[in-house]
Amino acid sequence: MYSLDDTITAIATALGHSGIGIIKMSGPGALPIAQQLFRSARGVTDFQPHHLHYGHIINPTTQAIVDEALVVYMPQPHSYTAQDVIEIQAHGGIVPLRQILELSLSLGARPAEAGEMTLRAFLNGRLDLTQAEAVLDVIEAKTDAALRVASEQLNGSLSGSMAVVRRELLDTLAFLEASIDFVEDEIPAQDVVGPLTSITLSLEKLLKNADQGLIYRQGVKAAIVGRPNVGKSSLLNALLRGERAIVTDIPGTTRDTLEETANVDGIPLVLVDTAGIRAETANEVERIGVERSQTALERADIALMVVDGSHALTSSDYEIEKLLQTKPGLLVINKNDLQSAQTFDPGPDFYFDAPRIPISALENQGIKQLEENIVKLILGGQVTLADAPMVSNPRHKVLLQQALTSTQSAIEGQQLGLTPDLVSIDVREAVEALGEITGESVTEDLLDTIFSKFCIGK
Ligand code: GDP
Repeated sequence: MYSLDDTITAIATALGHSGIGIIKMSGPGALPIAQQLFRSARGVTDFQPHHLHYGHIINPTTQAIVDEALVVYMPQPHSYTAQDVIEIQAHGGIVPLRQILELSLSLGARPAEAGEMTLRAFLNGRLDLTQAEAVLDVIEAKTDAALRVASEQLNGSLSGSMAVVRRELLDTLAFLEASIDFVEDEIPAQDVVGPLTSITLSLEKLLKNADQGLIYRQGVKAAIVGRPNVGKSSLLNALLRGERAIVTDIPGTTRDTLEETANVDGIPLVLVDTAGIRAETANEVERIGVERSQTALERADIALMVVDGSHALTSSDYEIEKLLQTKPGLLVINKNDLQSAQTFDPGPDFYFDAPRIPISALENQGIKQLEENIVKLILGGQVTLADAPMVSNPRHKVLLQQALTSTQSAIEGQQLGLTPDLVSIDVREAVEALGEITGESVTEDLLDTIFSKFCIGK
């Protein structure tokens, strides 16, 4: 079991050189520790809640000043963790922050685990599990659209819809259980198929925009493929020249090829780079070009097949086209600025029915149309960012699917005339699945998996 009655502390801001850095403490010891560490400039340390107190952090043993600081006290339950929280805003250097952290440890706090502040917020009921997960999504949002989806989830929009469906399931379950206990003719043979059908509709609605939510959160991998010199690097740069998505390297992961993320109308488009071929002979260049395209395609969701519109197609173009098989994508006809491109015709069968987009990567022509077609290809013509809460987490999607399957199976069971105790098994499974999304029914293992992805101090 998790302990909540000790005091945890962590540096909550990224380590480096910055104007300020924040040390956070949560737990019953936060206030007494702060009282020993802080010397107010006004000479009083009343720590009036939710006020900024200006003064110095001192080493309580030597009385030496460590740093100038602003301190805020947020008493339980009105804090991030719903416990007593102290935040110390000091200067954002590694040495002052480490020293303050170590002083707080020497006064009885212990280092917080990754995500432990948010875990405490969850365990204390301030956030449900979807909201706690949304905290991480907000921090890691790659585009404005991804941030909007995450912020809505943090605000409880998804929890709200989930709670409504769960309540309806629980009502049905209660009815079924009552039917088990009572003799048949004492209770009206109320139809559970009606309510269960309406529940399946709600679940289907949530699942319908889950794919879209996942796209905004995780992005889509696109391989820019084509033989050398058709303009792949130029296209990559043209796509990145617009708005770039914000991506941070995840420590501990190595990447074998360079990936850059463009922001295409809110969708983080991860471009798998196949450029930079070095080889001795022209033939070798062509061969490596085909090989690189193949590797890139294996890891990509969609393909941007680039051809040079100013030349007739070559055998390499056809070789790469053969690799595309059923990969969804677009045929990008580049170098459209050149006179010879005006008569370019790849023939009707080249890259199946992929839309053909003429562009000039060099002159930045046609890029907007290309982006529109990329969005259309990815979202399949769906309306973007609907007002309904959006499921953007694969974990939630799997559990929603389970809840739907169980509910459908309960309907079938009822229609087949199964006894209420049998039908209720399926309904209970659906309740459990939804409970795992919001956190009413979760195991410690699941919580560990979820919160270990967080950074220390969050
Ligand atoms: P890659 O080998 O496929 O990555 O091709 P690059 O992007 O390196 O481009 C190869 C050559 O084609 C370079 O000299 C580019 O300047 C040129 N190029 C790329 N795009 C265009 C275009 O739209 N029009 C013209 N005229 N030249 C282009």
